[in-house]
Amino acid sequence: MIRLTELRLPLDHPPEALRAAVLARLGLEDAALEELLVFRRGHDARSPRAIMLVYTLDLAVQNEEAVLRRHAGDPRIGPAPDTSYRFVARAPDGATRPIVVGTGPCGLLAALTLAQMGFRPIILERGTPVRQRTKDTWALWRRGVLSPESNVQFGEGGAGTFSDGKLYSGIKDPRHYGRRVLREFVRSGAPEEILYISKPHIGTFRLVTMVESIRAEIERLGGEYRFGTRVVDLLIEPDPDGTRRLRGVVLEGGETLAASQVVLAIGHSARDSFAMLRDRGVFLEAKPFSIGVRIEHPQGMIDRARFGAHAGNRLLGAADYKLVHHCGPGEASGRSVYSFCMCPGGTVVAAASEPGHLVTNGMSQYSRAERNANAGLVVGISPTDYPGDVLAGVEYQRRWERAAYAAGGGDYRAPAQLVGDFLAGRPSTALGAVVPSYKPGVTPTDLALCLPAFAVAAMREALLALDTQLPGFARADAVMTGVETRTSSPIRIRRGFDFESVNTRGLYPAGEGAGYAGGILSAGVDGIRVAEALALTATGQAVPK
Ligand code: FAD
Repeated sequence: MIRLTELRLPLDHPPEALRAAVLARLGLEDAALEELLVFRRGHDARSPRAIMLVYTLDLAVQNEEAVLRRHAGDPRIGPAPDTSYRFVARAPDGATRPIVVGTGPCGLLAALTLAQMGFRPIILERGTPVRQRTKDTWALWRRGVLSPESNVQFGEGGAGTFSDGKLYSGIKDPRHYGRRVLREFVRSGAPEEILYISKPHIGTFRLVTMVESIRAEIERLGGEYRFGTRVVDLLIEPDPDGTRRLRGVVLEGGETLAASQVVLAIGHSARDSFAMLRDRGVFLEAKPFSIGVRIEHPQGMIDRARFGAHAGNRLLGAADYKLVHHCGPGEASGRSVYSFCMCPGGTVVAAASEPGHLVTNGMSQYSRAERNANAGLVVGISPTDYPGDVLAGVEYQRRWERAAYAAGGGDYRAPAQLVGDFLAGRPSTALGAVVPSYKPGVTPTDLALCLPAFAVAAMREALLALDTQLPGFARADAVMTGVETRTSSPIRIRRGFDFESVNTRGLYPAGEGAGYAGGILSAGVDGIRVAEALALTATGQAVPK
């Protein structure tokens, strides 16, 4: 196959124009083009008057070598890369069963990959199966009842289950593992289009059924799930040479499970587990993360700003944005403010996992048809902002989550403020035309009560600057809802080239909680990489450096 990239056609081109453009670009007769597959379709909306579709295509042509020779030197034409996946090992008969802790995208892809190689993993999940979890999560959104072990963060499917299901990532992926994640998702019920749309998303409802379908496949291959099963301790004993080696895990209730290889894919909200790891001497380090709020605008405004007269076009869908501002001299000097996890046509969700704490995030359905666009508007912070031990970042998050809970009224309503009031430094007392989507509801107030002063200063500066990038971004009646603290993990569980903890053999820290992923796709990719390293070690093969 030949890969042709950057083929640009007008948004409203007729279907046959694609084939014609390929023939013209390659200088081929019609009969010489045997197959045309769209590998990726994106759009370039930098000029809303002349939006272009941008294709990456895989083509089967007659005399492929000659065609490639003719276009040698053209960086947009070359052999299509082989994106097929090959398993690195096969479990020997009687292989000891690895444990996978957590069923977020990282744990799921790790467990699935291990199961497909014959390792029959045992999967431990503190939360409930996804159907029960959906009910528990809605209890918070509808009635303000938080279930600490079954919520937006915890339970089958992990943090991304009630989300926009965006499936793209900026990670380097030379072995095309992202493609494998997408293929597995399609096999488990995701729409085929995620394989070729440049910014695919799935939406919440489909994610729920996909997660169940992956569970069925893992179980069919001999894997075993245990829900409501929280890992509370690790059994670590030294080897004769003094190396710390994992021997198993301790479950809540006291049961121990022996295992020589454990994938720890616990996400960024397992704060009790982070403390357990610190207390057990597993090597952790503090890492930067970000803090801020969710901001909501009418989706129609974003569509018009991005797509002009093409707003509402079916191929373009609801418009997104990605904004960043680097603060100038002053109180926020050196800070960066950026939009995070933007959800077109979605809702702001209550994402707390601890009683008396309040956290926001965003989600949408596949249709992205809700009236508001929302995104995190967050400020980067680093461990120098919260000195203390390695978990000082967790305490820092908690401090602002508790302040938000109090500012919202102490019943999981979220504190909210109009952008106009936030910029003027006065509390909001009422809301305007933009109706906030957060459930169980919002309390108009002053968000400065629940954000560090430097973050308030940075966001004030950024709102005005970002309004020049996206007109209307700082409109006075846009709603900000706080606080957004779970942007990424505040720690890294450092691992070596072999994917094992640098000081605890047999422990495989993985995914977002370990600081090695940020988002559904990258967490899934990390799960595959960790499963491969584990399988190579288990079968006596070297893990490549
Ligand atoms: P998680 O998904 O957090 O999974 C960790 C799992 O471990 C959980 O199921 C938890 O219950 C379990 N666990 C934790 N501790 C223990 C323990 N001690 N014992 C047993 N089990 C344990 N990313 C995107 O790419 N696109 C999006 O559109 C998107 N939207 C999001 C919307 C929301 C509301 C949220 C909260 C997140 C969103 N994200 C999105 C981020 C994405 O969900 C995460 O990056 C991803 O889920 C991380 O995957 P993970 O497997 O590493 O961890």
